[in-house]
Amino acid sequence: MPGNNWENWPFWYHFPWSRPFGLRPSRTNRKNEKERDARVSNLTMSVAELLGHPGEYRDVRLSEPLPGGVRTTLARLTGDPVSGDLRAESVIEGILVTGDVSGATVVQCARCLKEFDSRADVELCELYVGPGHDLSGSETDDTYKVTGTEINLEPMLRDAMTLALPLNPLCRADCKGLCAQCGADLNLGDCSCAEDETDPRWAPLETLKARLEEETQGPARSA
Ligand SMILES: [Zn+2]
Ligand SMILES: [Zn+2]
Repeated sequence: MPGNNWENWPFWYHFPWSRPFGLRPSRTNRKNEKERDARVSNLTMSVAELLGHPGEYRDVRLSEPLPGGVRTTLARLTGDPVSGDLRAESVIEGILVTGDVSGATVVQCARCLKEFDSRADVELCELYVGPGHDLSGSETDDTYKVTGTEINLEPMLRDAMTLALPLNPLCRADCKGLCAQCGADLNLGDCSCAEDETDPRWAPLETLKARLEEETQGPARSA
């Protein structure tokens, strides 16, 4: 594969079912159905038996809280476990982690500021670069790496959940928001400000209109 930057890879590489036959998971792995219920502990996962065996994979069920939480301006994960099913698959460059995870969130409506419960769902497809395949030589690059014989899922889950949190959440599509003048929640009914028909944004134009009227009357007075 060209380099270890996943963006340089052909698109089909991210979809196990579309890879060349040599890279498909071997059927012999499917006898390990018990491992479907293997759990991830402390967000780390041993990949010792996968490293160096491209095509081998292991399915795990994830149900772990993210320590310290994840939050953006208007949204945050609750302390509940982030859950989902993950597949760790051995590829030439390391371990490819795919799957769907979701977590309970509390978000604040961007218009009326009311908090409400929601969920964030993400589809994962991330490479953990294996030993000997980290060609960037940079200490600060943001690729995930296999550490010894383990992968730490926490930074990947943290990044993915952060991106999944909504930037502009709304309690409902037609939320009326708050009155810009008195702060009343307009979803609960109109406030008394609504009776004042003058939009404050037109005030400068009203002033200009008054001045123009004054100026047009000027020559009339001098005539
Ligand atoms: Zn709202
Ligand atoms: Zn008002």
